[in-house]
Amino acid sequence: MKAVVKKKREYGYVEVTEVPEPKIENSNDVLIEVKSAAICGSDLHAYEYLPSYEFMKIPIILGHEFSGIVKQVGKNVKNFKPGDYVMGESNKYCGECENCRIGKTNICYNSQMRGIVTDGVMAEMVKIDEKFLHKIPEGLSFNDAAAAQPCSISIHAVIDNCIITPGDNVVVFGPGIIGQVAAQLARAQGADKIIIVGTNEDEKIRLPIARKDGFLTVNIQKDDILEKIKKITGSPWVDVVLECSGAPKALQTATRIIKKGGFLTIISIYGKNVDLPVTNLVRNEINLRTSYTSTWKNYEQALNFLSCGIINVGPLCKTYKFDDALNAFKDALNKDVLKPILSL
Ligand SMILES: [Zn+2]
Ligand SMILES: [Zn+2]
Repeated sequence: MKAVVKKKREYGYVEVTEVPEPKIENSNDVLIEVKSAAICGSDLHAYEYLPSYEFMKIPIILGHEFSGIVKQVGKNVKNFKPGDYVMGESNKYCGECENCRIGKTNICYNSQMRGIVTDGVMAEMVKIDEKFLHKIPEGLSFNDAAAAQPCSISIHAVIDNCIITPGDNVVVFGPGIIGQVAAQLARAQGADKIIIVGTNEDEKIRLPIARKDGFLTVNIQKDDILEKIKKITGSPWVDVVLECSGAPKALQTATRIIKKGGFLTIISIYGKNVDLPVTNLVRNEINLRTSYTSTWKNYEQALNFLSCGIINVGPLCKTYKFDDALNAFKDALNKDVLKPILSL
């Protein structure tokens, strides 16, 4: 079968190539014909082979966001049968550690990310334990179902790790899919002004998409963000900040625009340590929360919210043929596309 494989511990060296097809080995395995596989930031980092990615398995099939059709099931599989439309979770959690036992599978002590430490989903067929699968609601496309994975991350951040009250003013740093869906969720929760913050390179695709979706935007390299916020909201502070950019400077700016007693939720990973004014955060009693990946419930919510239109990823995604995967990677690295999805 064909798969997108990272072959060397260097920049690039990603190819669409032939690999052996997976076979059902364990009684809980489900074999799936992949229909859509989305490219995520971490796949791009793997492509670039960034310094924090040395722990990767190489060679490896990339990808952790997918949807498809069940082809075959192991003898103990209870909830799925051939022909079912499914999507799968990005992380293999153990199900046995103390966090898994209380449903916090996102912070499993033995978590393994697909496409980084174990073979991923950018392939014609994938084999996956049934406990990591979710049924796709009727009428939802394979592309939307694959994008439910990043949506579940925004849901975990906004609904489980933040409090947005109707009328709140919200700033979202980072106009990628996580940030844009977080902004859509803030809107669904009744936020008043929602401002999405990006940089010059986001002016290509990301900020225009945000504006088209009705959000206010700030280009932090062009505009004075403090002035802009004051102009938009009438106050130098906002009630909620969602940090989805991973830029140290964005997080530092977040600490200056959050009101006393406000919520600051961090959803990104940083390449280096960030200097923060911790004493100010304490004196202002900022509710500083972090949010990491998502739980089984958040996946179900994502599929549900996509199906009933509470969130909409259509304008964020662009489809590529599977054989055209390399161009999809290059376009994403160039910021010419927000969310590339490989279609099979
Ligand atoms: Zn992802
Ligand atoms: Zn666990």
